[in-house]
Amino acid sequence: MRHTITLIPGDGVGPEIAQVVKNCVSALGVDIDWDIQQAGASVMEKEKTPLPDRVLDSIAKNKVALKGPVETPVGKGFRSVNVQLRKNLDLFANLRPCKYYEGARSRITDPSGIDLVIVRENTEDLYAGIEFMESCGGDNPLLTFIREKAGVELTCDTGISIKPISISGSERIATFAFEYARKYGRKKVTGIDKANIMKLSDGLFMKAAEDVSKKYPDIIYEHKLVDNMCMQLVQFPEKYDVLVLPNLYGDIISDLAAGLIGGLGVAPGANMGNEYAVFEATHGSAPDIAGQDKANPVGMLLSAVLMLSHINEADAAHQLERAVADVVREGASVTGDLKSKNDLRPPVGTREMGEAIVKKIIAS
Ligand code: NAD
Repeated sequence: MRHTITLIPGDGVGPEIAQVVKNCVSALGVDIDWDIQQAGASVMEKEKTPLPDRVLDSIAKNKVALKGPVETPVGKGFRSVNVQLRKNLDLFANLRPCKYYEGARSRITDPSGIDLVIVRENTEDLYAGIEFMESCGGDNPLLTFIREKAGVELTCDTGISIKPISISGSERIATFAFEYARKYGRKKVTGIDKANIMKLSDGLFMKAAEDVSKKYPDIIYEHKLVDNMCMQLVQFPEKYDVLVLPNLYGDIISDLAAGLIGGLGVAPGANMGNEYAVFEATHGSAPDIAGQDKANPVGMLLSAVLMLSHINEADAAHQLERAVADVVREGASVTGDLKSKNDLRPPVGTREMGEAIVKKIIAS
């Protein structure tokens, strides 16, 4: 089947790793017509925005995008490209699989069983951007409101961030997590929050996840508090399968889990909604190594694995994942960040690592 997919090479190391993905996908023989759309700092001067409408139009048409990292100009009044994509396309779920591949550098003594999928709610919580400055010397109706309604006296030098969590938003993300678990043969979903303290926001998330879990009797459901979960993930990461969390905890736990499996270079991701999906590595544009043929392409390649599964090219997805895993395990053709101290073989560049993966695909 022929697919048309938007490809945003992005900034910094983005074009280098995007080229590796294109070469691998072409070796897999999947019929993909890449609709290449530049975005980020590279188009700013010419188009006066890091996210031109043509990029959104392309994703709206194709439904699926693979994206390199993009830089949002700091302090120039532009909203983050990633936030805009999320809002415009209603990408309410952030998906972060964290699976250990032998050969990656982990500090965990036995990381071999780590195979987590983190589902983070992407639109609510403390990321909603509802914030109030401290306000000494002026009238502050919010502090009066809090005193009268919550019986809490806050001093005027207090900054306030609001944490909205809705039943509909929580049910939507929990349903996404269970549907994902069912589609990909996962056995257990763990709902994570701090419902014992934030009873009216996290408590609501907890209840919504429990309610949704009743519709999926084939999948085990359990609840954990986020502080306990941090310890569990460091001590027994192999016990967990799909995790579903509100936005802030999801952000933090995703990075913790990426650390367990070897860090930024090997962590794939996706932002998904009911209609659209944007797949991307979790790392940024790595300006310190851009254009030097040093970037590890694995994060973006594993994001392409997710993308291939999503477009029902499961065989190609497995083939690509196996080829990446083989090259990482053998360790002879990997970038510097994947090298252990005891490995005296010199690292290879992004291009050469990509060629080694292509060779594995062709040989498989
Ligand atoms: P970064 O992820 O770009 O870099 C952090 C460190 O990790 C650097 O030392 C870098 O060299 C290294 N690194 C990152 N990716 C690597 C790879 N594939 N292989 C080897 N090493 C790698 O984070 P940052 O420096 O905070 O951000 C740089 C820029 O990227 C910023 O403009 C930021 O806004 C943007 N950013 C974009 C996204 C995105 O588009 N999804 C995500 C994060 C950051």
